[in-house]
Amino acid sequence: MTQKSAGLGDAPLIELRHVEKHFGDLHVLRDINLQVRRGEVLVVVGPSGSGKSTLCRTINRLETIDSGEILVEGALLPQEGKELTAMRAELGMVFQSFNLFSHMSVLDNVTLGPIQVLGMKKDEAERRAMELLERVGVAEQAKKVPAQLSGGQQQRAAIARSLAMRPKAMMFDEPTSALDPEMINEVLDVMVGLARQGMTMVVVTHEMSFARRVADRVVFMSEGQIVEEAAPADFFDHPATGRAREFLDSIK
Ligand code: ADP
Ligand code: MG
Repeated sequence: MTQKSAGLGDAPLIELRHVEKHFGDLHVLRDINLQVRRGEVLVVVGPSGSGKSTLCRTINRLETIDSGEILVEGALLPQEGKELTAMRAELGMVFQSFNLFSHMSVLDNVTLGPIQVLGMKKDEAERRAMELLERVGVAEQAKKVPAQLSGGQQQRAAIARSLAMRPKAMMFDEPTSALDPEMINEVLDVMVGLARQGMTMVVVTHEMSFARRVADRVVFMSEGQIVEEAAPADFFDHPATGRAREFLDSIK
């Protein structure tokens, strides 16, 4: 599903170099080296506590790092201020808990960022928001508040909200883990659609059939390290390490 870009050089869209992170005594990210190319879908798997969420959060600077470098389009992530806000907007993030603003309509959730951060006019923001809500299949819920929607609808609205910021890449941290089983596929289908349209995506998930089908590359993390990095068929059919085999057996 990789889509090659023209003329933008060979710099990966996102690159981590020797990233280290501790929480107190806990060494949560150990010498993480990772590149995500434009149009690529990278799926991150690994046991609970292996550092997957922390990895996503450091890419977006929701967490600081102790050492190493994080580059977006070849440039170091800014530490703070306007540049950081702008950079964050370029990397969409979808969490397990949908994180919509509960007191606002779905439509207002989607227009808030474009109006406040991108400086878009309300009419224009609403027109685009309705297109996005249409695309993820919840346009009919636009005037409702999140609590009136099912979990699957809320998560799809959260994806629309991220897309409204025109991100260069989207990060998903276990986007279906909080959903009832019958709603998982409606969210995965939206993600498959995004991948097909060439969106660069980093996806933390336990949905192995999704990973097999959509990932260009699978990264397996264990105890803060990237232990394996492989094409999905290679990883799932022939994991190289005992740790990966154990993990795959545990989720069967
Ligand atoms: P995963 O997403 O793979 O389950 P996390 O990145 O959430 O793993 O967590 C990695 C480790 O860091 C876990 O041991 C977790 O308990 C710990 N951890 C995560 N966030 C914090 C935090 N804010 N403070 C202290 N420890 C944390
Ligand atoms: Mg996690």
